[in-house]
Amino acid sequence: MPVINRIADYQAEMAAWRRDLHAHPELALQEVRTSQVVQEKLKEFGVDEIITGMARTGVVGVIKGKGQGGSIGLRADMDALPIHEETNLPYASKNHGVMHACGHDGHTAMLLGAAKYLAETRNFDGIVYVVFQPAEENLAGGEIMVKEGLFEKCPMDMIFGMHNWPTVPLGTFLWREGPTMAAVANIEINITGKGCHGAHPDHGNDPIVIAAQIVNALQTIVSRTIDPTDAGVVTIGAINGGHIYNVIPETVRMLGTARWFRPEVGDKLESGVRRLATGIAASFDATAEVMFNRAFPATINDGAATQLTLHAARAVAGEASVRPMSRPTMGGEDFAFMLNEKQGSYIMLGGGRGDGRDANLHHPKYDFNDEALPIGASYWVTLAEQLLPRKN
Ligand SMILES: [Zn+2]
Ligand SMILES: [Zn+2]
Repeated sequence: MPVINRIADYQAEMAAWRRDLHAHPELALQEVRTSQVVQEKLKEFGVDEIITGMARTGVVGVIKGKGQGGSIGLRADMDALPIHEETNLPYASKNHGVMHACGHDGHTAMLLGAAKYLAETRNFDGIVYVVFQPAEENLAGGEIMVKEGLFEKCPMDMIFGMHNWPTVPLGTFLWREGPTMAAVANIEINITGKGCHGAHPDHGNDPIVIAAQIVNALQTIVSRTIDPTDAGVVTIGAINGGHIYNVIPETVRMLGTARWFRPEVGDKLESGVRRLATGIAASFDATAEVMFNRAFPATINDGAATQLTLHAARAVAGEASVRPMSRPTMGGEDFAFMLNEKQGSYIMLGGGRGDGRDANLHHPKYDFNDEALPIGASYWVTLAEQLLPRKN
C-alpha cells in the first residue's frame, strides 16, 4: 500500500495550506495566526474536541475512532526561524526576517492532512491526539506542553514525531533506535577584566587575551576528558568584546553550544567549561561568570515503538525506502521532552528533489518539498490505523 488514495486527493489542498503557512511564518511562542489556522481547520474537519492554551499557542485535536481502544499522539511543530528568506518563491515569507527554514510549515500541513482523513474515515478504535506544538526552535515548546499537562489532559499510550530531511531522497524514511539526536546546552561566559588604553596594557587586565586562552582550553574537554568512544561537542560561536583599535575593553562575552548523548558526558562537559573558564580567568586575576543552560535532553527512540513506525513506513514507502540512520546526529530536537515522559519514536522523512536544488534545513534558500506532504500524511494515518485497529 503506497500513499493512501484519499490522501493523494488532498495533495493540492495540503500544498495550499503549506504555502499559506510558509508565507506567514511566526517565531517561537508567537504562532498566533498559525495556531488559529490549525484550530479553524480542525473545526472544519469535525474533530471531536480542540484543546488550546498549552504553551500559549499549542493546539491538540482529539479524534475518536469508531470503537473503544488505545490512544496515540502524533506531533508536529509550528514555529519558524529568525532567518531572512532568499527563495524568491511566490509564497515567500511576508514577515521580514522570519522564515519557515526548518519545514515546520510542512510538518503542520502533513498532520492537518492526516487529521482531515482520520476525522472523515474514523477507521480505527480508540483515540488519536494530533498535537501541534509551538517553539521547537530554541524555546522548548515541547517541554512547556509537557509541563502544562499534555499527557494528563490527553492520556495516550505512545507519542510519535517526524521531521523532513531535505538531503535524503523524497519518500525515504530514516529510522533509528536509542539515542538519535543530541542533548543541547547553551553556553555563556562573561569575562570581566579591567579596561584601559591599548597603549598601556599594564594599566588594565585584558579580557580579550583571557578569552583566547579559554577558547583554546575548551578544546581539550572533549579531546582529553571524554571517553573517545563517546560523542561530545563544545563549540564557541561568538566572542564579543571591544570596538576600537586602541582600547582594551572591560568585558568579553562568549556564546557557545555543547552537545552529547550520555548524561555523564553532559556533566563532564559542564564541569569542564566551568572549571577551565573560571580557573583561567582567576589565574589572570580576572573573573569569568559561566552559564551552562541545558536546553534539550537527548532524543532517545524507544525500541518497540520504533519497530511500529517501521511497519507503518514500509506500508507507505516500501521496504527498500525505509532505511536505518547510519549514526545519530548532533542536532537537537525538543521532542526529546515528550519521549522522556512517554514511549514513542521520531522518524525522518526524506524530501530531496534529486536535482541539486535542495538547500539544507535552516538555510535561507530552503523550501519544504510539497511532494512529501501526501507521503507524510499517509504515514501518520497508517501508523494510527495499524496501532489502533478496528476490532470487527
Ligand atoms: Zn530547525
Ligand atoms: Zn525542525
